[in-house]
Amino acid sequence: MFIPLEKLKEYALNFGVLLDDTALERFDTYGRLLAEWNEKINLTAITDPEGIALKHFADSLSVLKYCEIGEGASLIDVGTGAGFPGLALLIARPDIKLTLLDSTKKKLTVIEDILSNIGLSAELLHSRAEEAGQKEEYREKFDFATARAVANLRELSEYCLPFVKKSGSFISMKAAKADEEISGAKKAIAVLGGKIEKAESFVLGEAGERNIIMIKKVSSTPGKYPRPSAKIAKNPLE
Ligand code: SAM
Repeated sequence: MFIPLEKLKEYALNFGVLLDDTALERFDTYGRLLAEWNEKINLTAITDPEGIALKHFADSLSVLKYCEIGEGASLIDVGTGAGFPGLALLIARPDIKLTLLDSTKKKLTVIEDILSNIGLSAELLHSRAEEAGQKEEYREKFDFATARAVANLRELSEYCLPFVKKSGSFISMKAAKADEEISGAKKAIAVLGGKIEKAESFVLGEAGERNIIMIKKVSSTPGKYPRPSAKIAKNPLE
């Protein structure tokens, strides 16, 4: 056993998530492979089993406490890196139709290896978010988009909201100072067809404050968004 599974089970239960033996075994394999791959590719600064259980796995699962994700919902995890929160959500909820997007190919190679070792499948999409968001096959096609530690909420909304269907939601996971980001992103979110539905704050054990911001898609995103990355960076939506 690599991950402290009893602790992980307890963390998950605190978020109302019951992990069965299969899920726990998959998390254990995921954690072990993450630490192994991290010796070859820089994936995460958190490599101790305890830290992985709390700061990666439990943090990802917190989404399930605050957001109602229906059976068989489609979800795209934007800038997934080593699979957070998307792959962790899939282990807890194998019914989800998951797409994992990242602009770094080697991270998706790692995810492919993990998926084949745990016996689950997801669509892997090697692209920048702002390019995929302009493609017909991905635009407004998902019930949910998630993102953790990818960009400031204002820019991130331009990356993520175009993927979300009307009545779907973009779920943004943030550490501290979420209030500042929310006020700075409000106008951009409205322009992109979103509306902040709720922001939940909680303490992730010794890791400290965490925030989950739910943004509902209330109208279609105008066709010119997302703009090319240089424009988003140079001229953020105000
Ligand atoms: N979400 C993961 C987590 O919380 O551990 C990874 C966070 S990592 C700091 C940011 C990831 O976002 C990287 O893997 C990077 O390649 C990806 N990324 C950043 N900007 C992106 C963009 N515009 N489109 C796609 N991926 C992007």
